[in-house]
Amino acid sequence: MKVAIIGCGQLARMLALAGIPRGLQFCFVALPGEDPAPVEGLGEVVVWYGEEAVALYRRLGEPDRFTPEREQLPLGLLQGLNRLAPVYPSPESVAICQHRQREKSYINGLGLPTAPWQSVDAQTHWATLGTQLGWPLFVKSCEQGYDGKNQWRLSDEEAPAPPLNGEQAYLAEGGIAFERELSLIAVRSSGGEMAFYPLTENQHHQGILRCSLAPASALPEGMQERAEQMATRLLEAMEYVGVLTLELFEVAGELVINELAPRVHNSGHWTQSGSATCQFENHLRAITGLPLGSTQAHSPSAMVNLLGVHPPRPELCPNAKVHWYNKALREGRKQGHLNLTASDTHQLQQQAQALLEQLYPQEAGAE
Ligand code: AMP
Repeated sequence: MKVAIIGCGQLARMLALAGIPRGLQFCFVALPGEDPAPVEGLGEVVVWYGEEAVALYRRLGEPDRFTPEREQLPLGLLQGLNRLAPVYPSPESVAICQHRQREKSYINGLGLPTAPWQSVDAQTHWATLGTQLGWPLFVKSCEQGYDGKNQWRLSDEEAPAPPLNGEQAYLAEGGIAFERELSLIAVRSSGGEMAFYPLTENQHHQGILRCSLAPASALPEGMQERAEQMATRLLEAMEYVGVLTLELFEVAGELVINELAPRVHNSGHWTQSGSATCQFENHLRAITGLPLGSTQAHSPSAMVNLLGVHPPRPELCPNAKVHWYNKALREGRKQGHLNLTASDTHQLQQQAQALLEQLYPQEAGAE
């Protein structure tokens, strides 16, 4: 079976690396200007110049499945391809997740909690809104925002108004005083089978994920089950196929959904070392109609992102498994990650902390 991945980044790379041993073949759609270096050697790369879906489908050698690597893709293209071979997750699911306002309305419509939010524009009276939704206000563009980009945090009524562009849609959310950020990697197969990985604890730096620990330690009673119930509602309502990630805030023993990612996720990379079946393999199983593999964690695991840095010398991290994405080095860029496993959580946290201090010595504590 041949799977066409739309996008050529590290997620495409790791999907292919997980699927090749299962006998799957891959090809990749590069968007104009996209550097295909991460998928070099893993299958044919075809650049999409904006032509009709059918022409692209033929140039790709008529693949059996399409899967998008990212949510910000032209919907018309996904819909056109879906008429030729199944696109999983479906264009409808991607459409929900690629626009923050649509996504939040959808989540709330299913009775699931998000931060209080409202659409905003350059005319919004920020002081009034901050009083209504709660300070700090997080102002976010509805599209093209990820890793904290196109996003402003207004701490109080004195904060300068965000530089909103009249061409784009935005929303503002009330700040959630969360205890920590968690994520749930969920997967549903084309046959309706579902599975969930243990909740993962995520630490960000300047809006970018830096380190994940799984399973999340000291979870309140029943929280894993509550997260799985939330995911089940979403997966079933969307008739979703593939991996869906829920980014969550833990607040006062409850979960609030921050956002959804209709794809494998950086906070699930630990599954490559810490689980019997990694998120990439389970996504491929889901979209190709195979039974899902076990999502159990076989040991405490950590993932440390390499952001604009090379991995440490091997003798300095003998237990870390290095995943390098084959991208040119650039400040702050996701170049790769390290996976660690240990027999107990405390030992793992210490190892992850030591790695963070080695990689980012300029930031004391490197949270
Ligand atoms: P996002 O791009 O929506 O994932 O936001 C990036 C980061 O900003 C999140 O990982 C949180 O650390 C923080 N953040 C976003 N929205 C909120 C909110 N409503 N309340 C508190 N923190 C937030």
